[in-house]
Amino acid sequence: MDSADTSVQGFHEQGVYPCPACRLGQIQALSLMDAMACNACRHIFTANLERQWLLMVDRSPPLVWHWNGRNWTGAHVEGVKLGWRYWLNAVAFVLLPPVLIGLSAYIVTDSGAPLPLLSIVWTGLTFLFHLALIGRSVIGFYRFPVGTYFSVMGRNLLSR
Ligand SMILES: [Zn+2]
Repeated sequence: MDSADTSVQGFHEQGVYPCPACRLGQIQALSLMDAMACNACRHIFTANLERQWLLMVDRSPPLVWHWNGRNWTGAHVEGVKLGWRYWLNAVAFVLLPPVLIGLSAYIVTDSGAPLPLLSIVWTGLTFLFHLALIGRSVIGFYRFPVGTYFSVMGRNLLSR
């Protein structure tokens, strides 16, 4: 609440705002340009003042945030949402391969005999690998800049 003057006002291009991408820097208008930039992560934004939107234009498709008078909400890719189809595919992608591997190991193993350890390890690894791929895809979709976040944090700590 240190910027009480602008915190409850509408978003305008002359103001200074917290950066919605890295949440550490501040964005303000670039001189001579119809764009805004963050002083920490260097992302470039353009504003839609009518709709109180901010678009991160240096990625494609651009990410959009909405200014609610106090802060930025709802990062999403313009015109795209992670709908139920995506999550259905994600669940199938994570679960199907290990199930198939586990099932085939179960079928070729004599009934009553324990599953070979290798098959169990292999099934587990397949599950983890696919889970990691989906995690990466979701982080990439929202493009939460984990690397930027930590490098700016590190810089702030060092400069103290
Ligand atoms: Zn930033």
